[in-house]
Amino acid sequence: MKVVLQNLTKIFPSRNKKSNAEVVAVNDFTFTIPDGKLIGLLGPSGCGKSTTLYMISGLQKPSGGQIFFGDDDVTALSAENRGVGLVFQNYALYPHMTVKQNILFPLQNLRGADKLTKNEMLERAYNAAKLVQIDELMDRKPSELSGGQQQRVAIARALVKMPKVLLLDEPLSNLDARLRLQTREEIRRIQKETGITTIFVTHDQEEAMSISDMIVVMKLGVVQQTGKPQEVYDDPTNLFVAKFLGTPPINVFSGRVEGEKLYIGDAAVLDVKGVEDQEVTVGIRPEGFVLDENGPLKCKLNSVEIMGRDVSIVSTHEASQNPVIRSIINADNKVESAETVSYSLKPHKVFLFSKQDENRIRF
Ligand code: ADP
Ligand code: MG
Repeated sequence: MKVVLQNLTKIFPSRNKKSNAEVVAVNDFTFTIPDGKLIGLLGPSGCGKSTTLYMISGLQKPSGGQIFFGDDDVTALSAENRGVGLVFQNYALYPHMTVKQNILFPLQNLRGADKLTKNEMLERAYNAAKLVQIDELMDRKPSELSGGQQQRVAIARALVKMPKVLLLDEPLSNLDARLRLQTREEIRRIQKETGITTIFVTHDQEEAMSISDMIVVMKLGVVQQTGKPQEVYDDPTNLFVAKFLGTPPINVFSGRVEGEKLYIGDAAVLDVKGVEDQEVTVGIRPEGFVLDENGPLKCKLNSVEIMGRDVSIVSTHEASQNPVIRSIINADNKVESAETVSYSLKPHKVFLFSKQDENRIRF
C-alpha cells in the first residue's frame, strides 16, 4: 500500500499558560512512501517522528495536510478503520494475558464482515507467531519472556490483523546491543516476507541506514532530506544531515575558499572549482583522508587505534571544530609514530557548507 503524506502539519498549543508559544511538531511534511518499502524516519529526539507516525496511524489528528493510503484520503478516518499495525518502544503487552491471548486480542474485536471464527483466529495467531519465531512460547506470560521476545510478540500482535501499513516507533530502544542488531535484521526479514509498507522510526542513524530502503531525516519538525541511505550519506544537503549520518561522525573544520582553493588553516587542501571566495564550514568523512607524507593537511597525531580491518587515527588541528579528528585508514597502511600526520583528501568525501545557512556549497 502506497502512503502519501501531503503538507502534513501538526501544531500543539502551548502547554505553558504564560507563553503562547505553540509547538510546530511536524511542519509541512510531503513525501510518498512507495508500496512495499521500508522507510526509516530518522532524527534527534523531539524532531517530530512519533507525531508523524501517530498522524499516519490515526491516533493524532493533523492540524493541516492530508494522508492517502493508495488513492484513498484517510485523513478523517479513525485509527481502527485505517488498517495499520503499530509497535511501540515499550512493547505495551497485556501482562495478565498469555502470548497467545495477546496476539489473539486484536482479532477478537473484529466485527461485522471482518469477524473470524475461533479456528481462523487461532490459525492467524499461529502464523503471525511463526513469522516472528515465538510459536513455541504461546502459553507464557510477558513477564516470562526476554525483552527481545516481548517485542516479537508486539510485532506479531501488530501483524495478525494483516495491516496495510506497519508503523514501528523506536521498537529496538529497550533492547541490549546484541538483541538490537538481531531484532532489526528480523524486522527486515519479516518486512520483506510480508511485503508490508513499513515506517520505522528511530533516532539511531546506523539502525535506520542498515535496514531502510529509504530514509527521511527530520530536524525540528522539518524534513531535511530523503533518499536511499547511501545516497544521503554520500550527498548530504546540509551540515545537519552530514553530521547526523555516519560513525565515526564526519570531521568538521573551519575553512575558507580563496581563488578556487580550499584552505584549512594556512594549507590549501583541495581545488574547489567554481566556488566564490568566502569563509566555509568543511566536513570530511573519516574515510576521506589519505595518508600522504607530502599531503597538505598536517595534523597533530594523538593515537592510532587498531580495529582489525581498519586503523583509526586520532589527531588534532587548530581549525577542527571537534576536539579530535578521526580518520579511518585501511590497516595495510603503516602509520609511523610521529608528532604529525599528513593527509591528502578524497574530493568526493569533502563537503563545503555555507557559514550563513549551513547549506551545501557544491564544487
Ligand atoms: P520524537 O518522536 O521525534 O522524539 P515527538 O513527535 O514526540 O518527537 O515530538 C515533537 C515535538 O512535539 C516535541 O517538541 C514535543 O515536545 C512536542 N509534543 C509531542 N507531543 C505533544 C503533545 N501531546 N502536546 C504538546 N507538545 C507535544
Ligand atoms: Mg518519539
